[in-house]
Amino acid sequence: AGTGSRDRALRERAQAVIPGGMYGHQSVGLLPDDYPQFFEKGEGAHLWDVDGRRYLDFMCAYGPNLFGYAHPEIDAAFVRQLGQGDTLTGPTALMVQLAEALTGMVSHADWAIFCKNGTDATSMALTVARAHTKRRVVVRAKGAYHGAAPWCTPRPAGVIDTDRAHQIFYDYNDVGSLEAAVAQAGDDLACIFAAPFKHDAFVDQAEPDPAYARRARELCDERGALLVVDEVRAGFRLSRDCSWSRIGVQPDLSTWGKCVANGHPISVLLGSDKARAAAASVYVTGSFWYQAAPMAAALETLRLVRETDYLERMTALGERLRQGLAERAAAAGFGFRQTGPATMPLFLFDDDPDLRRGFCFSSEMLARGVYVHPWHNMFLCAAMTEADIDAALDAAEDAFAALKRQAGALPPVEKLAFLTAGAH
Ligand code: PMP
Repeated sequence: AGTGSRDRALRERAQAVIPGGMYGHQSVGLLPDDYPQFFEKGEGAHLWDVDGRRYLDFMCAYGPNLFGYAHPEIDAAFVRQLGQGDTLTGPTALMVQLAEALTGMVSHADWAIFCKNGTDATSMALTVARAHTKRRVVVRAKGAYHGAAPWCTPRPAGVIDTDRAHQIFYDYNDVGSLEAAVAQAGDDLACIFAAPFKHDAFVDQAEPDPAYARRARELCDERGALLVVDEVRAGFRLSRDCSWSRIGVQPDLSTWGKCVANGHPISVLLGSDKARAAAASVYVTGSFWYQAAPMAAALETLRLVRETDYLERMTALGERLRQGLAERAAAAGFGFRQTGPATMPLFLFDDDPDLRRGFCFSSEMLARGVYVHPWHNMFLCAAMTEADIDAALDAAEDAFAALKRQAGALPPVEKLAFLTAGAH
C-alpha cells in the first residue's frame, strides 16, 4: 500500500509552497497514511487520484457532490452562463429566480442572501440575529462545526478572547443544558444555533430529539431570539425542505452551502419575514457573491431536487449499505456502529478509542477502491447505483476479514493520540 508516486511528489512540492503541506478539511493529515492527497478527476460517484486509482467515493467532496461529479445538465447550465457573463458589474436575473426557487422550496424562508461558503452564511446568520435583537449572545452546541471564521473555528491558533466572546455552549439534544445556556444568556440572547442532527467528528451521530428541537423554538420565541438551523452539511440529503420541517420545527434563519449547486461555488442564508428588516440593515457582500454561473448551476440542481426521486433512491441505497455492512460486521464478529441518517453515515468500531480498527478498515476499503472516512460522516450521492453499493459491500466483506487477521497486532494511531490523551 502507500500513496503513489505522483501523489508523493506533489506533497513534497506542496510542503514548500502551501502552509503545512495542506490546510483545512481536505488535508489528509489525520487520515491513514495510504490516503491520497491529490486527485485528478471525478465522474458520477467515482473519483480518480493523481496516480490513476479509481474509487467509489463516499465523501462526495465533503458534501457538494449530490447528483454526481461532472453532472451533464448542471455543468452545461454553468458553462452556458459562463459564456454569457459570470461576475459582472451587477447581478443577473438568475439571482431573483434562485431566491424565488429557494423560498418556494424551504417552508420557513421568505428571502435569500447568496454568498460563497458555508462560513459566510453562518457568520452572516449570527450578524443578522444580532442586528435583529440588538443583543450579543449565541447559544450553540458543544463540538458542532459551523465553519472556520474566528468566532467558530475548531482550532485556537490566532483566535483571541474577544473573537469568542458572548458564546454559551449546550449539549446537543439535551433540553436541560439548552435551558441552562439560555438562562445564562439572560436578556442578551441573540440566537440559538443548531445542526439538523448531531454530526460532530470522531463521535457517534445522533438524530435530533423532537422535544429538544421544539424547546429550542419555544425558548427563542419566549426571549425574542432567532433560531438558526445550519443545513450547510445536511441540506437536501434529508429533505427537500429545511430538515427540521420533518419534526415540525421551523427556524427563523437557515444556512446552506455545499451541494446547493452540486459543487459550484455558492452558499445561502435563508430567512423568514421576521428577520427581513435586520437582513436588509446589515452590510454583507463579496466580489464573487453575485456570480451568475453558480446560480445557473444551482437552479438546475434545485430542479433535479424537486423533480426527481433522488432522495428516495439515495435513502434506499443508504439503507442497503447499512444493512449489508451490519450483516458483514456481525459475521466477522465486530461491534460496528453506523450512526446518523442513511444518506450521511458514520462508521465507528466498538473498543477502538484511538481508531486503529477504523483506520485499518478504511485502508483496506481504500485498497479495494472504496473511499470511506474513519471519523467524519460520509455522504451518498444520487449517482450511486445498487451495483455500486454491492461492490462496496463485497469490499467490506474482504476488509472486515483483513481487519480480523490484523486486529490483535494493530499499531496505535499516533496522529489521533489526542483522542485518548484526555482519558487519563
Ligand atoms: N456548517 C456546517 C454544518 C458545515 O459542515 C460546514 C462545512 N463542513 C460549514 C458550516 C462551513 O462551510 P464552508 O466550509 O463552506 O465554509
